[in-house]
Amino acid sequence: MDITTTNTNSANPSTNPDTPLFQPKAAIESVSFLGLGAMGHHMAKHLVGQFDRVMVWNRSFETAEAHAKQFGTQAVSLEQAVSADVIFSCLPTSDVVDSIIEQALPHMRANSVWVDCTSGVPEQAKQSQAKLAAIGCQFIDAPVSGQTAGADAGTLTVMVGAEAAALEYAKPAIDCFAGLIVHVGPSGAGFAVKAVNNTLFAINAWAAAEGLSVLKAHGVNPSAALSCINKASGQSFATLATFPDRIVNREFPKTFTLDLMAKDCGIAIDLQTEKKVPTPVMAQVASLIRAASNQQAPGTVDFSEFAKFYEMFTGITIEDD
Ligand code: NDP
Repeated sequence: MDITTTNTNSANPSTNPDTPLFQPKAAIESVSFLGLGAMGHHMAKHLVGQFDRVMVWNRSFETAEAHAKQFGTQAVSLEQAVSADVIFSCLPTSDVVDSIIEQALPHMRANSVWVDCTSGVPEQAKQSQAKLAAIGCQFIDAPVSGQTAGADAGTLTVMVGAEAAALEYAKPAIDCFAGLIVHVGPSGAGFAVKAVNNTLFAINAWAAAEGLSVLKAHGVNPSAALSCINKASGQSFATLATFPDRIVNREFPKTFTLDLMAKDCGIAIDLQTEKKVPTPVMAQVASLIRAASNQQAPGTVDFSEFAKFYEMFTGITIEDD
């Protein structure tokens, strides 16, 4: 499925007379992907065969070379990668993206579009868009949801903050790994939606850990409780997938790390602080996820291990007897 809702409120990129006009080619010829981690590895493979040139770059270059061997992409230097018509990035944080953009700027071609699929900071997206617009390019914040399974299947939900013309040009490339693309607003809006989405997920997951622990204390196995909840009004993605597939079976497969979840919740809290919107539940859960994350070295455990942190509060393990 592929539905794009274009938000007509986004600003026109060419209203400032000092900004070079964004005049992309009629069709995308070359694409590149920066950051072949848990998500990027899969997302980049869907680009193969769709464009004349599909380049990949990764900090640990052997990862790019392995990708090229496995999928037929081209492992190239950062300088070469950022000369593509459409440049994708999927990196841990906006700070990492910013530092790569600084290195990339002298090597980018005018009229190219940078599609950042990192779960990033809205304000930093606006700054990147200003920098790229000044050289006749465009920056799109296009964070994704669907986990590594969605990246593998090419069915990710993509939340886009962008100028309409930039999205229109880059859309055939984004489509390669998307099940749904929604233009949610101007620069930064995609990152904002992603941060709130993940915080809602964290809230649901934390609440489910509490509920299942209470039930276990009363002698109800988590799997039995989930069988009911998942056909009733208390269901969420956390009860449908996270608990059965990661927590109750005690597998905790590492696909989305706890520090990245803590980062996303932190971005949502910064957004509420900026606009003085009281969000006591979001703030509480964001703080708890941060506390859980602080117990572990970054990048070492899956987000579902927040449940082990909560289990220290209760002394109850969320597994079946
Ligand atoms: P990973 O940790 O698996 O991969 C991170 C990638 O970034 C690697 O390619 C790594 O390179 C590179 N990298 C890390 N630090 C630097 C640096 N300083 N300079 C250059 N490259 C760097 O992350 P994910 O793929 O899981 O996540 C990427 C983004 O996607 C994050 O913002 C995350 O929040 C978001 N996301 C993740 C989901 C998931 O399920 N995993 C789902 C939806 C969004 P190297 O190989 O050299 O370490």
